[in-house]
Amino acid sequence: MNSKNLAGQPHIAYRGDELFMEDVSLSALAQQHGTPLFVYSKAAMLDALSAYQRGFAGREVQICYAMKANSTLGVIQVFAQAGCGFDVVSLGELTRVLAAGGQARKVIFSGVGKKRAEMRAALQAGIGCFNVESEAELDVLSEVAQEMGMRAPVSIRVNPNVDPQTHPYISTGLKGNKFGIAHERVVHTYQRAAALPGLNVRGIDCHIGSQITQASPYLDAMDRMLDLVQAIETAGVPLHHIDLGGGLGINYNGETPPQADQLWAQLLAKLDARGYGKRALMIEPGRSLVGNAGVCLTEVLYLKPGEQKNFLIVDAAMNDLPRPAMYQAYHQIVPVKPRSTESQTWDVVGPICESGDWIGHDRQLNAQPGDLLGVLSAGAYCMSMSSNYNTRNRAAEVLVDGAQTHLIRDRETYADQMRQEHLSTAP
Ligand SMILES: *Cc1c(COP(=O)(O)O)cnc(C)c1O
Repeated sequence: MNSKNLAGQPHIAYRGDELFMEDVSLSALAQQHGTPLFVYSKAAMLDALSAYQRGFAGREVQICYAMKANSTLGVIQVFAQAGCGFDVVSLGELTRVLAAGGQARKVIFSGVGKKRAEMRAALQAGIGCFNVESEAELDVLSEVAQEMGMRAPVSIRVNPNVDPQTHPYISTGLKGNKFGIAHERVVHTYQRAAALPGLNVRGIDCHIGSQITQASPYLDAMDRMLDLVQAIETAGVPLHHIDLGGGLGINYNGETPPQADQLWAQLLAKLDARGYGKRALMIEPGRSLVGNAGVCLTEVLYLKPGEQKNFLIVDAAMNDLPRPAMYQAYHQIVPVKPRSTESQTWDVVGPICESGDWIGHDRQLNAQPGDLLGVLSAGAYCMSMSSNYNTRNRAAEVLVDGAQTHLIRDRETYADQMRQEHLSTAP
């Protein structure tokens, strides 16, 4: 039996004429659970994590999985069991961490718009650190903590003003972004934080963007962070940790981002050279831990050849896979059981009533109604961004572990969707 791996997808491969994830046939899974279906490889997630762990061998580091990339309980449980902390951006995400067996003290809470009730609940749960994004938020957090007779552990998110050279919607560390404290205000902001009675200043953080495929923006950000650390500590505010955020890219379509361990070898060399080698570190990777661990299986419904375009209509749509519509993002689309006859050029589109509902443009495919396609690199920012638009039920999710499979999310039902709604008069 010949086996052929797909680029960037180490745990997805053809065995004979059929696509497998680890030791599980994807067509068998689709038969059992229906489509669209998200399937994730546990080994791929742990491999991605171990690249970071190798990179930090012998250092004091806390890896906080940025769970907005994929917040399904069965996914975050894999990372909790592997010892990860979590970067959360809402009380909802913290609630999921606790439900999946994660530890609050390893959680950091990011985001520009935390509400008082969220701060209170996070303090009550004993979270590790708040990553604060504005001076106004420092004041409110201090007040909330004081009311509870506590001091809130804080890190301040700084905006290092480096260009991550990625899509504008996912670059976050430039001057015009809503995130973080501007470079020139940072020292002042730390002095203010240190003087507030309800705060305990712990660290500094940044997060410059997402799907970053080069080392240079990270190296620049690290330099600017270390300049700031020096200035803050000179001004009399000691810092415990440095958090460089997330953002490392993955291979969707031939991109060649640095490997996590190689990137960190360069960053750690910089830390050492500047005398900060013993400093506690944190990172917040999201996409790079889960993106290439997932595939979305979808069934071909209709072929609709046309004069200008051929459309291949499938049963997954922009509500399941929002990235193409949102960011013109590219996902590889492959047949689960390739046919030997000649392929044609197709636009792969979903059933939703929007022209923006496409999954891939101009793809060479040979498929017939009833065939299964795999949309690759669907582990990050797909299910967690999915919606019920067009009253479509959210897909089911399966975790593959060797030859074992675990259904980690049931397919939604129409009753699920209507549960919180009320008619105003009897029907
Ligand atoms: C989204 C986000 C991350 C993770 O980004 P990835 O590109 O998925 O690695 C990390 N930190 C913060 C603050 C974020 O908002």
